[in-house]
Amino acid sequence: MNLYLTEAGIRDKKELLYLSKAMFSNNLGKYLLRALYDLYPHLKDKVWSKNVKDPFRLLVITVLSQVTSYKNLMRAVENLDKTIGISPEKLAKASLEDIEKAIKPAGLYKQRAQKIKTLAQMIVNNYGGDLSFLKNLDSERARELLLALPGVGEKTADVLLLFSFNRRVMPVDTHIRRITRRLGLVGEKSSYREIRKKLEEIFPPEDLAFAHIALIEFGRNICRARKPSCNSCPLRKICPRIGVSDQKLDHTSRGEFIHHSSIPRKLRV
Ligand code: SF4
Repeated sequence: MNLYLTEAGIRDKKELLYLSKAMFSNNLGKYLLRALYDLYPHLKDKVWSKNVKDPFRLLVITVLSQVTSYKNLMRAVENLDKTIGISPEKLAKASLEDIEKAIKPAGLYKQRAQKIKTLAQMIVNNYGGDLSFLKNLDSERARELLLALPGVGEKTADVLLLFSFNRRVMPVDTHIRRITRRLGLVGEKSSYREIRKKLEEIFPPEDLAFAHIALIEFGRNICRARKPSCNSCPLRKICPRIGVSDQKLDHTSRGEFIHHSSIPRKLRV
């Protein structure tokens, strides 16, 4: 090894290779985006649809979407459209039983019906049934008001800010949290806000919406919580796979990586 490299604490070629990859972590956003666009080109056109422009509609969809398949979610949304209509006024007036019946395909329909009705009533009572005034507020203030709505957490508030109000915001769900940790973009204990900030820094504003839905897809199909498909992952050459143990790997995925634990802490991305 070159003396300077030895003095810098780089022990062998493996470490050097790792370091050279780490050095372009500033470009990781671009690298990641390119991989996502290659994997999911069809998602690019799906980002902006009628389902996301109306903030209340998006709120209802977000309530219905957790642990629900896309197909069942869409069935519930269609039923609601046909039988009651998705507006704060209509849902505030509708009976709980009618809302439950309409959203049944999405599952957990009793709790969700109650949540949707309460949200609708609060938006009617506090904001005259119209959330569009949020577009005139800065993102922090708009987020504050959204977080004050019952059952609305950071991710849901950010989903609305990004998709309905076109703000430079990256909502972080469980898939995105896992991927960013494994890639070493954030630490194990990073907060929701720290992860969001990091992703907002590395992705261009115009790509945040695509990056959000593509990363979720990537987390469902490739960088899964259990048995990630590292072997077929387009990021395998640069990913330190932090926290991924051999037991968690898809059995086809062992082999070609520099294991993160073999890299000195100061060199980790
Ligand atoms: S290499 Fe493995 S851990 Fe890293 S992003 Fe790909 S699937 Fe996830």
